[in-house]
Amino acid sequence: MAKYSSKINKIRTFALSLIFIGFIVMYGGVFFRNSPIIMTIFMILGLLCIVASTVVYFWIGMLSTKTIQVKCPSCGKATKILGRVDMCMHCNEPLTLDKNLEGKEFDEKYNRNKGNNI
Ligand SMILES: [Zn+2]
Repeated sequence: MAKYSSKINKIRTFALSLIFIGFIVMYGGVFFRNSPIIMTIFMILGLLCIVASTVVYFWIGMLSTKTIQVKCPSCGKATKILGRVDMCMHCNEPLTLDKNLEGKEFDEKYNRNKGNNI
């Protein structure tokens, strides 16, 4: 079960790592300060990563409006479900909105049915 985590948490982790990559790339450019062209390329790449992460954060905001808030039966905290099957953000309990899937083994591929691709 540990290999799954809530989709929004996953995307958030991705956005956060993009910011770090961006800063590392920009910092890397400092080592090439003798050649302004390479340094500029590093700076632009780093900036692109940071811009991309901003876009991803914006996307999370959009996705959040589509989530359904439920109370987790396992830990009792409020969590958000995205798609047909998702994990509790707090305890990683698999949750589903589809009665047909209840009791079945958790599988992320259920989300790819019926055009619900998130
Ligand atoms: Zn929970």
